[in-house]
Amino acid sequence: MTDTPKSAWRLATQLVRGGLARTEFSETSEALFLNSGYVYGSAEEAEESFDGTRSRYVYSRFRNPTVAVFEDRLAQIEGAEACRATASGMAAVHAAILSQVRAGDHVVASRALFGSCLWIVGDLLKRYGVAVTQVDGTDLDQWKAALSRPTRCVFIETPSNPTLEIIDITQVAALTHAAGGRLIVDNVFATPLLQKPLQLGADIVVYSATKHIDGQGRCLGGAVLGSQGFIDDELGPYLRHTGPTLSPFNAWVLLKGLETLELRVTRHVENATRIATFLEGHPHIERVLYPALASHPQYELAKRQMAGGGSIVAFAPKGGKAEAYRLLNALTLIDISNNLGDAKSLITHPWTTTHQSRSAEEKLGMGITEGSLRLSVGLEDASDLIADLGQALS
Ligand SMILES: *Cc1c(COP(=O)(O)O)cnc(C)c1O
Repeated sequence: MTDTPKSAWRLATQLVRGGLARTEFSETSEALFLNSGYVYGSAEEAEESFDGTRSRYVYSRFRNPTVAVFEDRLAQIEGAEACRATASGMAAVHAAILSQVRAGDHVVASRALFGSCLWIVGDLLKRYGVAVTQVDGTDLDQWKAALSRPTRCVFIETPSNPTLEIIDITQVAALTHAAGGRLIVDNVFATPLLQKPLQLGADIVVYSATKHIDGQGRCLGGAVLGSQGFIDDELGPYLRHTGPTLSPFNAWVLLKGLETLELRVTRHVENATRIATFLEGHPHIERVLYPALASHPQYELAKRQMAGGGSIVAFAPKGGKAEAYRLLNALTLIDISNNLGDAKSLITHPWTTTHQSRSAEEKLGMGITEGSLRLSVGLEDASDLIADLGQALS
């Protein structure tokens, strides 16, 4: 194996080779360890493995060599000290928050969140005596007011799902730290390539690896990244004893996804920019939101903290839900689906799908209207996608 110091590797190299740990068989691709357990040469070795004097794999609910390659690679890409993989993005969000909060704590979150993230902060935490304040993520005064009292942690999505709100990570991180807490950023929409929350002051980053990291509709996965101390002392024991473990097979699939992530995200962004520009100029469209369009309300901030607009375009045709449904049903190439970040272009109506369980008031409060659509732009030829949208709109 090469002795190149890992820190010297550039991104494209880390994506392909980060964390690679070849076995005695010198296989080219990452080895797939599907075993659940491990054996010991002696009773003493087993004892030492459990009392911490010996560091080795003991059970795949705790750690697994294939999963560890995925964790090491993602940590290198993100510039994090440590990473733990989980079975899904929601397992990552859940563990990142629940591993640190206790009854009586205060948690702050932005209002515009993915439906299941809203359920965790808006419904679940309250059952356990955790006080939650939700704020308009784009309003710094609301952040200042909410973070004027001691706070255990703050959870944000930026850009948010599905309204593409951009939150100032640097400012919210400073306010969070002054309140004694940690800032958790759900970085799914930006991907590890377009936004570096840890460099902007965040403490913890979470991913649904189901989205762009796999990006080919094959498996679920998630990850939490942060300091070695947080992972070793808080997150690690929580995952070990509650068990939302990533399957080694899925870790192996996700490693293959990371190898092509930069190529795919570059194409996603090119396609999404073309489609957002097309929709913005179309007479039947009421509103388009895309972070790299000058018309986006937080365009300047997006330009500062992101290296591209991402793969998601939010828009609404004129005529509300009836027109939105007519458009969805007239598409012949773009699929109706609630997943995102996929090679295939997918479109969904958030009001009746991803955010169906939230009240109308809550949806309108975060900018979702009955006509809103969320388009996840895939890797097809942008001209074919534009032709499909064009015929469906006409
Ligand atoms: C999809 C998604 C999640 C949840 O990920 P799963 O892998 O589906 O559990 C969390 N946050 C955001 C922003 C998402 O888009």
